[in-house]
Amino acid sequence: MEYHDPDVGQEVAERAREFVENEVIPVEREWLGHESIPDSVIDDLRETARQYEVYGPQIPEEYGGLGLDFRAMLPVFEEAGRSLLGGLAMRCAAPDEGNMHTLEIVGTKEQQQRWLAPLAAGELNSGFCMTEPMQGGGSDPKMLSTTAEKEGDEWVIDGHKWWTTGGADADVFLVMARTDPDAHPYEGASIILVPRDTDGVEVVRDIPHLGGEPVGSSHSEVRFDGARVPVENTLGPENAGFAVAQKRLGPARLTHCMRFGGMADRALDIATAYASERESFGEPIAEKQALRFRVARSRTRLHAARTMIRHAADDIAAGEEARIGVAMAKVFTANVAQEAVDEAVQICGGNGIGKDLPLADFYENVRAFRIIDGADEVHLRSIAREAFAEPKLDELENVTRFGQ
Ligand SMILES: Cc1cc2nc3c(=O)[nH]c(=O)nc-3n(C[C@H](O)[C@H](O)[C@H](O)COP(=O)(O)OP(=O)(O)OC[C@H]3O[C@@H](n4cnc5c(N)ncnc54)[C@H](O)[C@@H]3O)c2cc1C
Repeated sequence: MEYHDPDVGQEVAERAREFVENEVIPVEREWLGHESIPDSVIDDLRETARQYEVYGPQIPEEYGGLGLDFRAMLPVFEEAGRSLLGGLAMRCAAPDEGNMHTLEIVGTKEQQQRWLAPLAAGELNSGFCMTEPMQGGGSDPKMLSTTAEKEGDEWVIDGHKWWTTGGADADVFLVMARTDPDAHPYEGASIILVPRDTDGVEVVRDIPHLGGEPVGSSHSEVRFDGARVPVENTLGPENAGFAVAQKRLGPARLTHCMRFGGMADRALDIATAYASERESFGEPIAEKQALRFRVARSRTRLHAARTMIRHAADDIAAGEEARIGVAMAKVFTANVAQEAVDEAVQICGGNGIGKDLPLADFYENVRAFRIIDGADEVHLRSIAREAFAEPKLDELENVTRFGQ
C-alpha cells in the first residue's frame, strides 16, 4: 500500500496551508462569536484563494480549478478543513463540491455549461435533496417517497425533503425522486436538476440546528408540489439515481473525512499550544502526564484515520467503489475527529467553550459528521454484512464433532 501523497498534491497543500494561516484564520478570528459571515467576505477570500492558486483544487482546469485527481486533492482538502471557512474559500466545501463532481462525471454538455460552469466559478450554489421527513427515506433510502412522473417531455415532481444543506442559497437542487414505481427502489429512482425558481418549489424554512453560526450552512426543508422541469434535466441515466448517488456519496464521504481530519489536527495544535503556555500547580499543564497521554491517544487515532482515508482514496483513484473501505474510514474518522475536538475543548478549559478560539464552533460542527452521509450505525451495518457474508464454518469442526 502506498500512502505517500502525490508531489503535486503536497505542493498545493503547502500553498493551502499558507493561505489558510495567512488569510483565512485572521478572518475566522474576526468573525468568531458573531452572526453569520456575509457572502462578500467569502467572495473576497475566494479571490485571494485564486491568487494563492488554491481555488477549486478538485474542479477541472477548464472550469477554472486546479484539476487535481482524487488522490492529489486529499492533503489539500485536509488543509482546507483546518478552518470552517477554508472549504468555502477554496470552493471545496459540501454540498457544492459533491454536486459539481456529479455534474462533472454524469452531466451532459448542456448541463455542465448551464450549471457546472457557474457553480465552479462560485456564481451559483446548489443543494442535494435526498433525505425526507418521517414517512420517507432517511437512513433507509429505499423508503424514498418523492415522485417524478413523466408528462410529455416534462417531469412533474411531488415530494417533501429536509436537511438539504445550503438550501437557503441554492439556485438549483439535485433531487432524488422515484421515477419507476414498479421497479426496486434502487433501480427506479433518478436524480433531477430542479432550478430553485421553478413553480412549485418552496424552501419552507431553515431548520434551526447545532453549529449554525457564524459559518454553518443552512439545512433546509424543501417542498416540491407539481414542479415541472424538462426531461433533459435528468442527471445521469434515468432510473440510475442510486447508482449515480453512490458515485457522488463514496468520494463525498471521504472528502468530509479529509476536511474533518484537518479540523481535528488543528484542534490538537490549539490544545497543545494552550497547554504549553498555561500553568497550574507550579508547571505548564502540558507537563501533566494524564493530559499528555490524552493528546498522544488522539494523535494516534487521528494518524490511523488519515491512513485509512488514504487507503480508501487510493482504491477510489484506482476506479474501485471501495464501499467497505469508505464506510470504515467514514465511521472511524467521524468518531476520532469528534473525540479529538472534545479533548481539545477539555484541555483549553473555559477557553474551549469560549468563542475566542474556534474550538467551540468545531465542537458544534463535528457532531453532525457521525450522522451526515450515513449515520455510524448505517456504515457499521454495511461493514458487518461483509464480515458475516461468508462465515468460516469449518472453524467449528471440533465443536460440532465433539457435540455429536
Ligand atoms: C448537518 C446535516 C446536513 C445534512 N445535509 C443533507 C443534504 O444536503 N442532503 C440530504 O439529502 N440529506 C442531508 N442530511 C441528512 C442526513 O443524510 C441524514 O440525517 C442521515 O442520513 C440520517 O438520516 P435520518 O436523519 O433520517 O436518521 P434516521 O433514519 O431517522 O435514523 C436515526 C438514527 O437511527 C439509527 N439507525 C438508523 N438505521 C440504523 C440501523 N440499521 N441500525 C442501527 N441504528 C440505526 C442511527 O443512529 C440514526 O442516526 C443532513 C443531515 C445533517 C444533520
